[in-house]
Amino acid sequence: MRILIISDIHANFTALETVLDDAGKVDAVWCLGDVVGYGPDPNECIARLQQIPNLVCLQGNHDAAVVGDLPLDGFNYEARLSVGWQQETVTAASRKFLVSLEPKTVVNDVTLAHASPRQPIFEYLLDTYSASENFGFFNTEFCFVGHTHVPSIFVHDHDGVNLVVPEPNTQVELRGRCIANPGSVGQPRDRDPRSAYVIFDDQAGTWDFRRVEYDVASVQERMQAAQLPERHILRLAYGN
Ligand code: ZN
Repeated sequence: MRILIISDIHANFTALETVLDDAGKVDAVWCLGDVVGYGPDPNECIARLQQIPNLVCLQGNHDAAVVGDLPLDGFNYEARLSVGWQQETVTAASRKFLVSLEPKTVVNDVTLAHASPRQPIFEYLLDTYSASENFGFFNTEFCFVGHTHVPSIFVHDHDGVNLVVPEPNTQVELRGRCIANPGSVGQPRDRDPRSAYVIFDDQAGTWDFRRVEYDVASVQERMQAAQLPERHILRLAYGN
């Protein structure tokens, strides 16, 4: 099965459409959460996801915050402003969709968690130390996560946990136990502003990591018009 793995769309409809087009025909889509937050198009992104057959979608911390399921203590000032705007903007139907999501699940023998298998809403898996502590918190061979917006694969082999940062538009074979992150569709943070996504073949165990340019300026214009925080508008151009 060819499975499109996406995460952290962050209400960026232009990026989502570009990725769905670029990915071509797939058998299923697994979305690892943070459908909303930061960007100008929360309702459009949710409506588009709901049209996808065989969609599995997790709830991220921003999705939980927007529906009021998460206190905003962990968010900085600008992120809170942004959450407020999203709360005013999401329709009742969008809200219903976000409320229905879970932050962690197992599908086709793969664990999916928004942030980490240990703390599916909060934890940032940015280094091999935090990753190594998480291998005891899932029972499958692979676990796919989002949340950091940084494409990465943590591989557990006989000498411990190693971090593999895949090159854009290359394919790697997942071997042994792995925690893998496809990067972010709508707000990349690895200094590459292109949308990131993965085509995972569950038979071959291949992780085909891809980057695609989208029309950043058009998203920035909509964010400007919605008076969203300047820093969130600017960062899309730099991918940080
Ligand atoms: Zn996110």
